Amino acid sequence: MTTIPIKIGVSACLLGEHVRYDGGHKHDRYITDTLGPYFSFVPVCPEVGCGMPTPREAMRLEGDPEHPRLVNVRSRIDRTDQMLEYCKIRVKELEGEDLCGFIFKKDSPSSGLYRVKVYNNGIAVNNGRGLFAAAVAQHFPLLPIVEEDRLNDPSIRENFIERVFSYRRWMDFLATGPTPGELVEFHTAHKLLMMAHSPQI
Ligand code: SF4
Repeated sequence: MTTIPIKIGVSACLLGEHVRYDGGHKHDRYITDTLGPYFSFVPVCPEVGCGMPTPREAMRLEGDPEHPRLVNVRSRIDRTDQMLEYCKIRVKELEGEDLCGFIFKKDSPSSGLYRVKVYNNGIAVNNGRGLFAAAVAQHFPLLPIVEEDRLNDPSIRENFIERVFSYRRWMDFLATGPTPGELVEFHTAHKLLMMAHSPQI
C-alpha cells in the first residue's frame, strides 16, 4: 500500500511561476504535463522565500566552493546569511510535507545541485552547489534529488522515479512499526530491484 499522492518538491520556476530574477519562469512541461498526473508538487523558490523581490538583481556564488558566499553581482551585497537563515527554517518545514523527492533548477546559485559556477578572483569554476539545494541534500540525505535537465536522460529519469517510489514505500513501511520479520519481507520484495542495479550490494 503506497501513500497517495506522492509529493515531490520542485523549484517553483520549473512549474511556471514567475519567480526568476528577471521576472520570468522556466516552465518545464515534462515535469508538469508528464510527471504531474502521478505526483503532487510542492513548489519552493528560496530567493523569493527569503524575502527577495521579483524582479531582483542577479546573484552568483563566490569564494570557497565548499562554503561559497551568495553575492549580488552589481551591488556586491552579500545575501549569504539571509539565505542560510531561510534554509534552516524551510528544511524544518519541509519535514512536515513528507516529500519523496526534489527536482532542482540547474545552474542556480540557490537551487542548482551540481556544477554551479563559483567565482574566485574573477575566475569561475563549475563545482559549486546552490545554497538551498545544499541545505536540502544535507537535511534529507536519503531523499531522491535531481536537476530538471537530467530528467532528459532516460536512465537517470527512470532511476529517479524508481527511487521516489521506493522511498515512498520505505517511509510507509517504517510508519507501520515493522517487526524484524516484516523487514525481511520488505527486503525480499525489493531484492530483484536492488540486484538490477548492483548484485554486490
Ligand atoms: S532557480 Fe530557484 S531561486 Fe531561482 S527562480 Fe527558480 S526556484 Fe527561485
